[in-house]
Amino acid sequence: MFSLNNLLRPHILTLMPYSSARDEYTGKEGVFLDANENPLGSTTSGNYNRYPDPHQWAIKQRLAPIKGVRPEHIFLGNGSDEPIDLLVRATCTPGTDSILIMPPTYGMYEVSASINDVKVTKVPLTADFLVDTDAVLAAITDTTKLIWLCSPNNPSGNLLQPEAIRTILNAAQQSLVIVDEAYIDFADVPSWTSELDNYPNLVVLQTFSKAWGLAALRLGMCFASEELIRIMNKIKPPYNISAPTQALALEALGNESGKNDMVAQILTERQSLADELRALPTVQVVHPSDANFLLVQFADAKGTFEYLIEQQVIVRDRSNVKLCDGCLRISVGTSTENERLMAVLRQMPDVPPSTNLPLGTGDDATKPELVSNA
Ligand SMILES: *Cc1c(COP(=O)(O)O)cnc(C)c1O
Repeated sequence: MFSLNNLLRPHILTLMPYSSARDEYTGKEGVFLDANENPLGSTTSGNYNRYPDPHQWAIKQRLAPIKGVRPEHIFLGNGSDEPIDLLVRATCTPGTDSILIMPPTYGMYEVSASINDVKVTKVPLTADFLVDTDAVLAAITDTTKLIWLCSPNNPSGNLLQPEAIRTILNAAQQSLVIVDEAYIDFADVPSWTSELDNYPNLVVLQTFSKAWGLAALRLGMCFASEELIRIMNKIKPPYNISAPTQALALEALGNESGKNDMVAQILTERQSLADELRALPTVQVVHPSDANFLLVQFADAKGTFEYLIEQQVIVRDRSNVKLCDGCLRISVGTSTENERLMAVLRQMPDVPPSTNLPLGTGDDATKPELVSNA
């Protein structure tokens, strides 16, 4: 039987949280002399002199029906980075406890654990980027507090098997099982949020950074049991979401159709980009994607990456990442951007250009690091 109290670090249970001025009086009307704010206004054109709602109720009221959950199941963070870090700090005793990740996957899980001196157990995905369920179950120990699943997975782009996630949720009764759904809007499956009432050990992460187009705002969503959300609220910085971010998120939630339209466009572009890439002789594999990017294996990933940079087309080199030999990760751009990428790739010489130019002629001769890359 799962018990959150057994999983949390003992001092977190008894911790007395900071009580902000806005926690102690929640009314909207009155003369506010309780938070040492500037009563005159701001030094900007907009007024930002009052502290924001520490619990972002307006956003949660609006988000809950969209996601089919109750507002009490929602935690909002400064990007997904914040819930990732809070989950580690709430559950993992440094030097003792561990998290489990399935490489290749999103880097922040390991970074967050390492910052907190928490051990990382790695159970690689299979060669086709699926969960190795038996290996995961075998790797879970008494110290495994968090099990991270990223679906659709970054950098591979594919959804993980739902049966595997369910098996792990059922088996891991001493751990939180986190499904990071940063790319769920681009995938043709329901979110795991619909299972929150069935699995008290389930945590779902989503973000405003991708489909909603709000990466600059830094706003991440975390869905979990009311009990866990209460704990996360207790340990978060009191005013973790700024007032402009809250206002803009509300505006965005009123325009869900705008988000859906952009997702549809990106999916169309993803399909044509994948088709065009597959037709290039230098492309070996375009991995299937349920996200807004493609993992693409090239005959010469490093050379292609450097060449693209020279042409001012910037992609992500994943060729040193486990199971991603020879792979670049390419975000789906606008049709103009994708056409530019394809035009540049079609013109790529077989050998990187800087190697076959005589020294002293052309711009490339001034870039010795490219010469040495041959
Ligand atoms: C982009 C991404 C996020 C989002 O991070 P934010 O901090 O919310 O911008 C989360 N998880 C994965 C796997 C991602 O690729």
